[in-house]
This record gives sequence, C-alpha cells and structure tokens, in this order.
Amino acid sequence: MIHFALDLFVVFQPGVPQNMIKYQIGSRNPATHYFDVSIYIDKPEPGGQCLRLPNWIPGSYMIRDFSRNMIDLVALSAGAEIGIEQIDKSNWRVSGCDQPLVVSYLVYAKDLSVRAAHLDHSHGYYNGSSVFLEVVGQADRPCEVVIERPAADYCRNWRLATSLARKQAQAYDFGLYQAQNYDDLIDHPVEMGEFKKISFEACGVPHDIILSGRFECDEARLARDLTSICEHHIRFFGEPAPMHYYQFQVLVVGDGYGGLEHRSSTSLMCGRDSLPKPGQTGVNDDYRDFLGLCSHEYFHTWNVKRIKPAVYQPYDLQQEVYSDLLWAFEGITSYYDDLALLRCGLIEQQSYLELLAQTMTRVQRGIGRTRQSAAESSFNTWTRFYQQDENAANAIVSYYAKGCLIAACIDLKIREISGSERSLDDVMRRLWQDYREQARGVEKDSIQQLVSEIAGSDLGDFMQELIYGTSELPLAELLETAGISVTTRVAGNQQDKGGKDIEGELATVDFGAFLKEGEAGLAIQRVAESGSAQSAGLSAGDVIIAIDGIRLNQGQLEQRLLLARPDDCWTVHAFRRDELYQFEVVLQKAVASTFVLKATESQQPQRQAWLHC
Ligand SMILES: [Zn+2]
Repeated sequence: MIHFALDLFVVFQPGVPQNMIKYQIGSRNPATHYFDVSIYIDKPEPGGQCLRLPNWIPGSYMIRDFSRNMIDLVALSAGAEIGIEQIDKSNWRVSGCDQPLVVSYLVYAKDLSVRAAHLDHSHGYYNGSSVFLEVVGQADRPCEVVIERPAADYCRNWRLATSLARKQAQAYDFGLYQAQNYDDLIDHPVEMGEFKKISFEACGVPHDIILSGRFECDEARLARDLTSICEHHIRFFGEPAPMHYYQFQVLVVGDGYGGLEHRSSTSLMCGRDSLPKPGQTGVNDDYRDFLGLCSHEYFHTWNVKRIKPAVYQPYDLQQEVYSDLLWAFEGITSYYDDLALLRCGLIEQQSYLELLAQTMTRVQRGIGRTRQSAAESSFNTWTRFYQQDENAANAIVSYYAKGCLIAACIDLKIREISGSERSLDDVMRRLWQDYREQARGVEKDSIQQLVSEIAGSDLGDFMQELIYGTSELPLAELLETAGISVTTRVAGNQQDKGGKDIEGELATVDFGAFLKEGEAGLAIQRVAESGSAQSAGLSAGDVIIAIDGIRLNQGQLEQRLLLARPDDCWTVHAFRRDELYQFEVVLQKAVASTFVLKATESQQPQRQAWLHC
C-alpha cells in the first residue's frame, strides 16, 4: 500500500507549507470493491496524531461501524513506516513524529445503499463518513481531496458527480476538490460512472439530476416536475435559497427505495418503475412515491440540515446522540413532502387525501402507538425504529408517520384558532429565521413554545399530549373543521394500505397475521398482539401448511375469511422450525382501522387555504 502513499507526496509536494488536510481517493481495481485512500497531514500532533472514522452518518440514526470495512492501514513519515496503534473500533493513534505524515488504507465498498460506499465495474459511490478518517484536533481546517479516476480501462468514460466545491477539476470530472472542514468534506456524497445528467434551474439556482443504473425516463418531464417541487420549497421558506447549487443523485435499481439528505445534495435509490417513462401521462403510485421522496429530502435542506436539534451541533459521530425531536425533523418533513406535491399541482386533492389517510392507517394498525410516544420513538431510534423486528408494530410507533400526523394536527389547530390567518407554515418560517445562522440549535421545547406564540394561544397541553402522550390523536375532529370527512373500514386484504373505498364485500373477521406465500406454505411475518393468530399460539416464523386439513394459498385464505364469521374456529397446522403443531384459531371480529378521507363540499375556505386548491 505504501507505493500509493508515495504517489501522494508527488501530488501534494512535500515541503511546501500547507494549511490544508489533504485526502486522496481512487481505486486500482474497482472490481475488488476497494477504494484506496490516503491522507496527508502536514502538521501532525507531535506527541502522536489521533485519527477516527464516524460510526454513523447524519440522517440515518443507527451505529453502523463504518471502520469495519477498513484494512491495510499504514502510516509513513520522512520516508519510513511508523507505528500506528488502534485504540478502539474506530480510533487510532500514530506514533509521534515531527515531519508530515501520510496515512493510507483500503475501504471495502460493497454496501448498495445511500448510507455508505459502493464500488464495482459499473459505478462508484461513497459518503465521506465511510471513507475519510478525521484528523482529530484538526477537523476545523480546510480540506482538499484528489478524486482519481479508477485505474481500470472500463472507467475511461466515467464522469463524477458531487456538490463538493471544485478546486482544480473540470465540471463532472475527476480532479481536485475542496471542503471548508471535515464536516463539509463528509456531507457531499460522490457518484462516479457513466450516468445521465439532467439540469434545471429553480429560483435561479442550478440543479442537476444524476441518474445512474439502467432505466427509461422522460427526462424533460422529470426536470419539469422537480423544478415545481424545488421552487415551491424555496419560496415556502423564502428566497434566496440557502444553497448555490443542488444535486439529486439517483441510483435506479430493480427493487429499492430510500434517500439521505445533505446540505447541497441528496442521495436517492429508487426502483425502475418509479421514473416516468417516455409517453407516460398522469402520476401513478410509483412516480408519486418518488416525487414524494425527492420532495422529502429537498425539504430537509432547511429542516434538519440547517434548522437542527441543538444536540447535533456539532454531531458526535462516534456514538449515539439522543434527541426527542425526530418527530419534528422527520415528521414535519414527511407532512410537507406530499402536501407540496398537491400545492404545486403535481397531484390532485383526492390523491393527497389518499396519502394522508394511508399514514393515518399505518399508525392506527399498530398497537405500538398506545405504548410509545413520538418523543420516545425519536429518542430510541438507534435501537428501535432503525432495528425493527417482527414485533415492531406491537411495540413502537414510527416518528415519521406519527410525526406527520402530529404536524397535521398542529397545522389544522393553528388554522382553526386563527381563522386560517396563521398555520404551521408560519412556524416553519420562524424556525428558519431563528435558527438559520447555525449559531444555536432547536432545544427540546423550542417548537412547542413557538407553536403557542404563532397560534396566539397557549397550546402547551395540546402539544404535550401530541408529542409525549399515547392517546389517540385528535386528527379526525380537526379534519372535519377543514371540510374533510373521515371514515374507517376494515382492511380489504393485507396489501390494502387504505385511503380508498373498496368495491365488494369485506371480511367481518381478521386472522391477525401478516403472511408471505412460499413453497413450504404461508409463512407468518408478524402477528398482531392479542389477535386471532397470536391468541391461538401462532407466532412470527411459523409456516402454515393447512387450515381445516386443506392446503391453501394466500388468495384461498382470503376467500375463506370472506365466508367466515366472528367466533368461527379453524384448525391450523403449522411448522415451527421443523416441528409440526396444531392450533385452534378462534376468529376475532375485524377492526375498522383503515382510513378514507374525502372533501365534503367543493368550496370550504379553511380547506382551500390549507391545501391551496
Ligand atoms: Zn427524512
């Protein structure tokens, strides 16, 4: 590995005084999935320079131990290798030296997600938090990074996409880039490969969409629709936009969905059917989800990347950082992501109401909502929301989904009190004014106080119960005040996400288990607490092979449920591991926990003020 470090000395001209931490990243063979990384430190701490790698990435609240992918770590000073001691899983100390120091290592990059790094013959992608060691004590110094074209013939036509500032590099090319400090260095993910670039402007700010992977796309339409969303959000918080440039990095795969926000970019992953095909008109469910994802990550440009919880200033990336406030930073963002699609005319009012009803349904179907508050869900994200098991719906509530509904409650409550004069929109604009300068972060009770102030009425108790309570949200009553009728029904089948009426007969009983059809039988993915299946002794992992002595598939089971009545008893045979058991399942009455929302009259001033239509 040392020869690569020696290359670095050539690039960085040793002996010339520098005021920068210098990084270099490349790959000698992308097919091995290794990035080669070197760091040149002109003034290492004489008593022994410490280095560390983040254990998590902002925006994805789980300890991921990125350092487990590092190998072949070596340190070199004055032309000779020097000692490097590992202190813990993500911290090292190099032996004391009074000459510039070069540290080199390899990073194994085979995580095809938006959170880490991935490299193969088709493309490369990394977040700085996965590949760049922090020089402890020098994190505030400016950084330069040489991003090298990987040394393989098939990379000769690769281009490079990042929102990192260029220093000596052509646009969309490999070369020398720079960052204000370490925090900046790791907040601009890099995509390299033969991608498609689509450019547009929103409120005068240049934006690029970088599409990687195999796909078909109506590029003009995608640019037009994203322009509407971006301009909407910029104008929502007020011009000028806080960034000079913005990049949507999209990796298109067969099956995948996710996004991660950054200050001037976002990394997204989506399925091929999410993009609008040439000739396709209308907004189908997949494209609506994708637009919602883009809208969500873009809204984060303000809400969490600049308006931040105080405990994230600065981020401690070595360990969990606990906050009660993710219901606001993720939930309010989730509220405005879809609402923006309606407000800028990309979807119809009924389509928006369908999405809101689906979120209400998601929360209502899990008994976990009665056990965990939105604040507790936020606080425990590290080990609960991000590490969900088969019992999650019974034990926890999503701070995304419940946070979105809390945001709707706050918005409608302020609108009701103020006669539509003020709203959550004003709260967000005030947060932006008050916290944009980064000097301070949002404290635990900042948002509650601001809501009362904007509403002109003490909403302390109301907010306390929404955030820290587990009682049912008053959303149905508040929606009625805005001319929206709220009805509930039982689920049509286990694919039914809610939001729509269903034609035909609905079952009066519920089996109380989510099933997946496989060759061995119907595998139970999860059971509802105290539901029919669990009450009979069935549990997640069991594989049902027969009901009343007959093998049946998912469709046949649904047919049997339609004919069944409450208190009917089924004899169920199921394998638990390799052992066959018999269960007597008494079918319980189905609960109406699926929501449908409808506008009750065509002209209702509060609704029109709220939905902008
Ligand atoms: Zn988010």
